[in-house]
Amino acid sequence: MDTQSVKTIGVVGTGQMGSGIAQVAAHVGLDVVLLDASLDLADKAKARLGDVLGKLVAKGKLDGKSRDQVMERLHPAGEYQALVSCQFVIEAAPENEALKLQIFQSLDRHVPADSILASNTSSISITKLGAATKRPDKVIGMHFMNPVPLMKLVEVVRGLATSDATFRATAALAERFGKTTVTARDIPGFIVNRVLIPLLNEACYTLYEGLGTVEDIDKGVKLGLNHPMGPLELADLIGLDTCLAIAEVLHNELGDDKYRPCPLLRQYVAAGWYGRKVGRGFYKYDQK
Ligand code: NAD
Repeated sequence: MDTQSVKTIGVVGTGQMGSGIAQVAAHVGLDVVLLDASLDLADKAKARLGDVLGKLVAKGKLDGKSRDQVMERLHPAGEYQALVSCQFVIEAAPENEALKLQIFQSLDRHVPADSILASNTSSISITKLGAATKRPDKVIGMHFMNPVPLMKLVEVVRGLATSDATFRATAALAERFGKTTVTARDIPGFIVNRVLIPLLNEACYTLYEGLGTVEDIDKGVKLGLNHPMGPLELADLIGLDTCLAIAEVLHNELGDDKYRPCPLLRQYVAAGWYGRKVGRGFYKYDQK
């Protein structure tokens, strides 16, 4: 597929990653169908994006006309039928294999047969998602970083059956979004999360074992290792539910106890303390 022939993309799951992907895509001139579990959720995502763009206008980083154009390109939807016009779909639903398999089956039924189906999954097998469709050659991982508008990297993950044409079109689309790509094999966690999640999990263990306070663990890693953010702060940004889901994929799929999720991480997720997106994780946040 020639990437310039991509005029409309679908984004499935309009949470923090999906809405960031939609923002970037609309900004470069693509129409974006925003699909969530209901039309109401997709409408709310568009409204939140309106607030984000409003702040950019207020700071002088975006002009009012561009904001209006981006907003006009966002089309909320609650039904898969709305994806019939999409040449490329990026799934960004929660990190849950059963859910993603179901979504890929639905995408395969409703999205034109020659369109590419990409997943923003952090760790789940692209090969498995491809095998749930009748077009495994057109299924690929397109792993954006958080926050999408600011982070330069997209990790492109080839499943066993992903074709060269799908790979080229995906890398070209990422470049059209202004991103830099790396290519990873379809092994759990790919490159970025294979390295990151054990670090975040270990930071949870240091808290669990009382090595230091939340603030000191973050300050220690930030200043001691020259990281832009502390690990607990970063885990809160990613979402503790997402961190745990990725850690479980690494642990289950690779079978090595070094990936065993920290009990404290499980406890926070059980409490619904998912991090910044709900206002409470290792830190407390003002909901606004
Ligand atoms: P999120 O919880 O912010 O958003 C998930 C969205 O999916 C929500 O809007 C939810 O309503 C929607 N959803 C739930 N069920 C759905 C369904 N059946 N159909 C359509 N939409 C549905 O999660 P997120 O942080 O945006 O993560 C999404 C994906 O991106 C995950 O696979 C995650 O691993 C990956 N990812 C996350 C980060 C991160 O830092 N958070 C970074 C890279 C990749």
